[in-house]
Amino acid sequence: MAGEEAAAAAAAPEAAGPGPAQPPAEARPDGGEAGNGGGYDGKCVFCRIARREEPGTALLPCEYEDLVCFRDIRPGAPHHYLVVPVEHMGNCKTLKKEHIPVVKKMVEVGKTVLQRNNFSDLNDVRMGFHWPPFCSISHLHLHVLAPASQLGFLSRLIYRINSYWFITMPIVEEWLSEKGHDLLEVSNPVFTMEGGSHGYVSCP
Ligand SMILES: [Zn+2]
Ligand SMILES: [Zn+2]
Repeated sequence: MAGEEAAAAAAAPEAAGPGPAQPPAEARPDGGEAGNGGGYDGKCVFCRIARREEPGTALLPCEYEDLVCFRDIRPGAPHHYLVVPVEHMGNCKTLKKEHIPVVKKMVEVGKTVLQRNNFSDLNDVRMGFHWPPFCSISHLHLHVLAPASQLGFLSRLIYRINSYWFITMPIVEEWLSEKGHDLLEVSNPVFTMEGGSHGYVSCP
């Protein structure tokens, strides 16, 4: 009987083992981003990806432990990455000045992943956030696409510069430099249109 038990344990090392060493959120040096409703949402695909619970999505190297980076499953360009906070944070409409540091890091990760993948012309890059409600995933995510000059017709539409459904770096950078505003305020002149008729963008 004891032998059988040992054999069973040996046959299921993953179930019996301690599992991969993942630091608990409260053990992180910065205490994690409490943010807007932070934490983990098991129904959110980006929360699951960030915790390596989606075997189909490989995480790329990322210099910050509170962020993850992976390829978009429906790439709109030869390079198409998503940069996502590990903690569940709401979409870009909810970004406030206290989120500036994390967004700066997201942009930095976006540039680094391009360079790591041998794409160095940072002038030919499209980065931005989908403005709600034009995205099916509410978890904050930065799209990083390159080369911008090679976006297909549909991608040019979906990831259009500062359209009212995709907010890109000029406005995000303005927001980052202003300090003290919510992104919603800075982007208001462009994003006052509600809804629209072009349809619905789902991502990834
Ligand atoms: Zn999430
Ligand atoms: Zn999106």
